[in-house]
Amino acid sequence: MKLWSRAAMLAAMMMLAACRVSDQDNAAQPANETAAIAPILATPDANDIHSFARPLEARVHHVALDLTVDFDAKRIGGTAILDIDRKPDAKEIVLDDKGLEIESVTDGSGKALAFKVGAKDENLGSPLAIALAPDTRRIAIRYKSAPGAEALQWLTPEQTAGKKHPYLFSQGQAILNRTWIPTQDSPGIRQSWEATIRVPAGLTAVMSAPRSAEPITQGGESVFKFRMDNSVPPYLIAMAVGDLEFEPLGPRSGVWTEPAMLKAAAAELADTERMIDAAEKLYGPYRWGRYDMVVLPPSFPFGGMENPTLTFLTPTFIAGDKSLTSLIAHELAHSWSGNLATNATWADFWLNEGMTTYATTRIVEAVYGPKVAAQQVALGHDAMNAAIVDNGGPSGPDTRLHLDLKGRSPDDGLTDIAYEKGAAFLRTIEVAVGRERFDAWLKGWFSRHMFEPVTTSIFLADIRDNLIKGDSGLETKLALDQWVSQPGIPANLAPADPQAFAEVDGAVTAFKNGAQPSPEVWKRWTTDEKLRFLTRLDKKQPTARLASLDRAYGLANAGNNEVRFAFLTLAVAARYDPAIPALEQFLLMQGRRKFVRPLITALATDATWGRPIATRVYARARPLYHPVTIRDLDKLGLGGAVTGQVLTAK
Ligand SMILES: [Zn+2]
Repeated sequence: MKLWSRAAMLAAMMMLAACRVSDQDNAAQPANETAAIAPILATPDANDIHSFARPLEARVHHVALDLTVDFDAKRIGGTAILDIDRKPDAKEIVLDDKGLEIESVTDGSGKALAFKVGAKDENLGSPLAIALAPDTRRIAIRYKSAPGAEALQWLTPEQTAGKKHPYLFSQGQAILNRTWIPTQDSPGIRQSWEATIRVPAGLTAVMSAPRSAEPITQGGESVFKFRMDNSVPPYLIAMAVGDLEFEPLGPRSGVWTEPAMLKAAAAELADTERMIDAAEKLYGPYRWGRYDMVVLPPSFPFGGMENPTLTFLTPTFIAGDKSLTSLIAHELAHSWSGNLATNATWADFWLNEGMTTYATTRIVEAVYGPKVAAQQVALGHDAMNAAIVDNGGPSGPDTRLHLDLKGRSPDDGLTDIAYEKGAAFLRTIEVAVGRERFDAWLKGWFSRHMFEPVTTSIFLADIRDNLIKGDSGLETKLALDQWVSQPGIPANLAPADPQAFAEVDGAVTAFKNGAQPSPEVWKRWTTDEKLRFLTRLDKKQPTARLASLDRAYGLANAGNNEVRFAFLTLAVAARYDPAIPALEQFLLMQGRRKFVRPLITALATDATWGRPIATRVYARARPLYHPVTIRDLDKLGLGGAVTGQVLTAK
C-alpha cells in the first residue's frame, strides 16, 4: 500500500481541479442536463432548521467529487464541483460545513470566489458562505475532511475480518455528510452526483451509485468512478473502501463484503430477489437499477442504511438461518419510502421510517406469509408502547409524529415513535379503508412524489385528495390530524392480532408460575417468538431462573444477536454475574448502537454493580465504536472523553 506525500497530493489535486473545471466548461452540455432538477419546497414547514442553506436564493443541484482517500492521515481530500441554480440577484450561496479544511473556492473558470466560514454550532457545524458573481453557475471547492470527521469511520486492519487491510466507511444520515462533502446538506435539496475516488492499490471503493467506468490501477493507486443520475437527498451519498469482493445474488442484486464473510453473507441474503419482486408488486417499479448490499465490519452503528443501489448492512444480521432478514426488507422498502419520496426536514422523519416500517411488514408478508407478518406487527406495537413510555408518556411532546426539533439534534427524532407509531398509523388507515384501496393510494403516493421532498402537510393533502375524497365519515374515522399532531396513540388504532403469539404468551404466563418451555419448543420457535418471550418476562428475574434459561437454550452466547441482546438485557437488569463474560464479548465484537447503547447505559446507571463493569468495558470498546455511537455513550461519563450529562432513556 502506498500513500502520497502531502505535497504531491496537493499538486496533483490542483492540476485535477484545473482540468476538471475546464473539461466540464468546454463540454457541450452540462453533465446532468437531461435529469430534471428536483423542486425546493417553499412552505414554512419545509424550512430545514438543520441546514444553513437558503435554497430558495441559491441551491446546489449537482455535485462532482474528485477525492483521494488517505488512510495514514485519516482524511479525504480533493475537489467538489457544485452546479448551482440561483436567483439572478443572489449575492451568495450558503453551504453546510462541519470541520472541513477549505483550501480554495473558485468559479467554473478558475477565478477565485470569496468565502467565509461562519460561527460553529455544536450540532449543525458552520455555514460556508460563498460570494457569487452575476454569472456564477459552478463552484469548485478544494478541501480536506478533518481527521475526526463524524461521517467517516477509519478502521485499522485489526478491526476488520481479514486483518490485513484498513477500511473506511461513511454514514451520512442525518446531518453528518457535511463533515466530508461541502454541499447543502438538507434532505429537501436533492442533488444528482458523481465521484472519482482514489484509494491505495489493492483496495476497492464502492458507493451508493452505479460505477460509471471500469476501475483503473496504476502508480500505487486504484481509481473508481461512480455516477448517480437520479437526484437524491445528500445524506444518501455514501462510500466504503476496503478489501471487498462481490458475489451476485440474482439478476439485479449482489453483495460486497470482505472475502472472509462473503459466503455467509450471500447465503443469508438468498431471498433478496424475491423481496425486490414482492416490493415492486406492492409499490411499483424499482427505480434505481441494481440493488446491491455491502456487509460492513461490526462497528457499523446501525442495522442498515438505505444508501441507493447499495444498502449498507451490519454483519450482526447474519444468524446463519435467514431469521433476521426482515432488515433487508426494511432497507429495500426505503427504495420507495425515503429515497423516492423523502422527508423534507427531520421533523417529518416518520414519513421515511414509519412508511418503511409499514412496507417492511407487507414485503415480509408477501415473502414469508401472514403469520410472520402478524407477529411483526405485534412486536411493533410492543416497541411503540415502550417508546411512548420512554418519551414522556402519552402526553409527551416527542410522541407526536410531526416533531418539534428546534435547537435539537435530528437524532432526537430517531425513536420508535417515527418507526412504529408511524407504521401503526398507516396500518390503521389500511384496516379502515381496506387493503386494496390503501395499496392503490400508497403506490400512487410514491409515483406522485417520486424524487421529491415531502412533508406531513403534503401527506395529509394527498391522502385527502386521493383516498378520502370528501368522505366526511371516513375523515372522522381516520383521525388523521390527531395521529400526526397530537401526542400518544389515538383510540382508533388498529390492534395487533391478539392471537399472533398465543402459544408464546401462554408460555410467558406459565413461566411466571414456575414452568419453562422445553428445549424442543424453544428450538421450534421463530426468532420473533423467542424475542416475544424474552421481552415479555418481568425485568427483575431471580438469577436462578436466568441460569436455568441460559443452561437450557444457550442464550448468553446465542448466535442470533437479537436473541442474545434480549437475554443480556435481562441479565443486566437482574445483576446476573455469570453472563458478564458473554456480555463483555458482545460489547467488544460489534458496535451496533441499538445493542450497545441500552446495555452500556443500563450498566452505567447501576452505580454499585453495573458502573464498574461499564467503565471497564467501555475503555476497551470505545476505540472500536463509530463516532455516532461514541458521541452518545461519552455522555455517560465513563471516561475516554469529555464528560457530559447522563443520557435520558431513548
Ligand atoms: Zn429505516
